[in-house]
Amino acid sequence: MKIIMLGAPGAGKGTQAKKIAEKYQIPHISTGDIFRANIKNGTELGKKAKTYMDQGLLVPDELVCDLVVDRVKQEDCKNGYILDGFPRTIPQAESLDEALGQMGESLDYAINVDVPDEHIVNRMSGRRACVGCGATYHIVYAPTKKEGVCDVCGAELILRDDDKPETVQKRLSVYHEQTQPLIDYYKGKGILKDVDGTKDMDVVFQAITDILGA
Ligand code: ADP
Ligand code: ADP
Ligand code: ZN
Repeated sequence: MKIIMLGAPGAGKGTQAKKIAEKYQIPHISTGDIFRANIKNGTELGKKAKTYMDQGLLVPDELVCDLVVDRVKQEDCKNGYILDGFPRTIPQAESLDEALGQMGESLDYAINVDVPDEHIVNRMSGRRACVGCGATYHIVYAPTKKEGVCDVCGAELILRDDDKPETVQKRLSVYHEQTQPLIDYYKGKGILKDVDGTKDMDVVFQAITDILGA
C-alpha cells in the first residue's frame, strides 16, 4: 500500500501517518523529520535546508526529490510506505510519478487531512517536539504524562522555531500557493480521499482506516 498524506502544516499528517505505519506495518517517511535529522547531524543537506525551513519556505525541489525517490526504492518499502510531507509541489508530485512509473508502480491513496486555517495556529503553538526521538505532542490535545518530558524516551520537549506564529502564517501562505494544488492533481488521478481533520485524532484515524480497509 503506497500512501501520501496531504494537508496544511499542523493538520495532523504526522500524527496519523505514525498510526497508519504501525497498523499496516509499512515505513513512515517524513521529509520534515529527514531534514531535521540532517540539521541535528550538521550535514551539508541540513545546512542548506535550514535556511529555507527557518523562513517558513519550502526547501527547493532538487534537494528533496532524489532523496525521496532513493528512499522508496529501498528494500523495506517493497510492501508499501506512507509519505508524510512529500510531495509538496506539483513538480515533486510529477517526479515521484515518473520514478514510480519507471518501476511499474503507482500510488494507491492520497489522503487529504482537511483543517481550515483558523484551527492551525492553535494546533502549531501547542505542538511540542521531543529533542531526543522526534515524538510529537500537543499541550492540550495530546499531553505528555509529565509536563515537558517525552513519554517515549524521557528527553526534553521544545516548541519548534518554525511553529512560532510569525512563521506559521508564512507556512500557511506557502501551503495555499504551492501545496494545495496537489488536491486537484490527485483528484484528477482518482486517488484523492478527504478526511475531516478537525475531529478528534481517533475519529480521524477511524475515517482513514475505513478508507484503507482492515
Ligand atoms: P509540518 O509537519 O508542519 O507539515 P514538516 O515537518 O513536514 O512540517 O516540514 C517542515 C519544513 O521542512 C517545511 O516547512 C519545509 O521547509 C521543509 N520540507 C519538508 N518537506 C518538504 C518538501 N517535500 N518540500 C520542500 N520542503 C519541505
Ligand atoms: P502535521 O504533521 O500535519 O504538521 P501533526 O501531526 O504534527 O501535524 O499535528 C500538529 C499538532 O496538532 C500536534 O501537536 C498534534 O499533537 C496535534 N493534533 C494532531 N491531530 C489532532 C487532532 N485531530 N485534534 C487535535 N490536535 C491534533
Ligand atoms: Zn522522545
